[in-house]
Amino acid sequence: MKHREVVNRVLYALAGLVAIGICAAAVTLLWVDRRDIWASAYTSARNLTGVLAADISRSLRSYDLSLQGVVERLREPGIERVKRETLQRLLFDRASGVQYLGVIGVLDEKGNVIYDSASVQRPSANFADRDFFTVHRNADDVGMYVSRPYHSVLRPGDDSIAISRRISHSDGSFAGVVVGSLRLAYFRDRFAELSIGERDSITVFRSDGVVLARNPYSLADFDREIDMPKDFQQFVFGREGTFVGVLSPDGINRLYTFDVIEGTPLVINVALAVDDVMEPWVRRAVLIVPVTLALFLSVMAQIVLFRREMRVRGVYEKQIEAQAQTDGLTGIANRRTFDDALEREWQAARRENKPLSLLFLDADHFKRYNDRYGHQAGDELLKRLAQVLKNKARRPRDLAARYGGEEFVVLLPHTTLPRAVAIAESIRRAIAQWRVPHEDSEGGIVTVSIGAACATPGADDAAASLVVAADAAVYRAKAAGRNRVVAA
Ligand code: GH3
Ligand code: MG
Ligand code: MG
Repeated sequence: MKHREVVNRVLYALAGLVAIGICAAAVTLLWVDRRDIWASAYTSARNLTGVLAADISRSLRSYDLSLQGVVERLREPGIERVKRETLQRLLFDRASGVQYLGVIGVLDEKGNVIYDSASVQRPSANFADRDFFTVHRNADDVGMYVSRPYHSVLRPGDDSIAISRRISHSDGSFAGVVVGSLRLAYFRDRFAELSIGERDSITVFRSDGVVLARNPYSLADFDREIDMPKDFQQFVFGREGTFVGVLSPDGINRLYTFDVIEGTPLVINVALAVDDVMEPWVRRAVLIVPVTLALFLSVMAQIVLFRREMRVRGVYEKQIEAQAQTDGLTGIANRRTFDDALEREWQAARRENKPLSLLFLDADHFKRYNDRYGHQAGDELLKRLAQVLKNKARRPRDLAARYGGEEFVVLLPHTTLPRAVAIAESIRRAIAQWRVPHEDSEGGIVTVSIGAACATPGADDAAASLVVAADAAVYRAKAAGRNRVVAA
């Protein structure tokens, strides 16, 4: 029993470990999976951003070099004396025919166009109010300037940005501006070559937040300014960065990666929708979580069922054991239990050197009782007798048992003979006082005869001798006229 309890505990522990192990494995799997998906999303966003930034940087810088070439030419000595047609070719040859590039023009210090790449005639236009002019007039250290986007008057729907450089006199004073236009289609076509998700976006903007181009393109984005929190701006322009959050008005959570476009005042940003990044992971989690839960619950259910089964079995076994120890009719201890107890108490009495007493009770003329009142009534009487004995055997180690038939015994450890006789006498008197009619007996009522024996066992004595002595005493009680106690 004890051993099995331990085995059960170990089984529960193992089953519990299996259940926890299943959950731990699933959690670990999902966690690692999620980490890998993020890592690869970061990497691909970073790569995309980097490649685009490098590409745009190369294009814009080569365009800028053309503008710088114009500035250099204009500084060459004697340039004023060159014929207008020749000068036109000298100035703009390098820049003509480049895709997405519009007109390049040279403006004097008042903003008047003095040369342009489109015609030999001196145009009569003035751009003194445009940002690409004023910014250079007001400062000499701007370098390459990229304007806000503007709608082209000549080609409706074909928006452009202007790229400009300052022209200075030899003393450093403002001499004008060289400006060229770049069609925003350049960015759109570049973006279109990439395969990005529907909810992903690419944005190119100036470091002050003015948006130049965005994919997917929407008119609302035209000349929009990104509203950036201060610390975020620091984060972005400190160096290329990564950022997860909701920045766009559509409320979509995105993974943003930023990169500075080298050699230009521009920044590019690629934003991947977090939901799309996580979608394959969510699909796997939706499979794994319920399966894991089901496994976990089934293991737990098995533990619970097993425990219940074990408990039921334990109760049942206790019942069986109790049944094996008690007498079926009277419910008190049976002969086997008595034999065990006698042996045990006999040894104990010898060890402790204490007296051990035994009462042997035999119902008087019980055969006749059965014959007259019926076997059923006899059984009832036996049950009543058993209850009396049980009540009189009061101390914890006292034991009342049915010895067989209409014979009972009471084992009384630590009890002297006089005390045993007194207990026997009280039993006999109690039964006689019921005054249960028994017409075929001497007194006309149910009575019992009791033999009492006592021993303080020595080394060589056998327990059975106590029973023999008590039995002999009953025999003498019967012979002496029944309904009495006789001490051995
Ligand atoms: P005495 O006074 O000398 O003991 O006479 P007695 O009739 O009691 O003695 P005996 O040993 O001849 O008879 C015992 C009777 O007890 C026989 C049997 O009918 C009855 N008996 C034994 N076991 C049971 C039982 O379980 N139920 C019933 N009703 N009677 C039993
Ligand atoms: Mg008998
Ligand atoms: Mg009898």
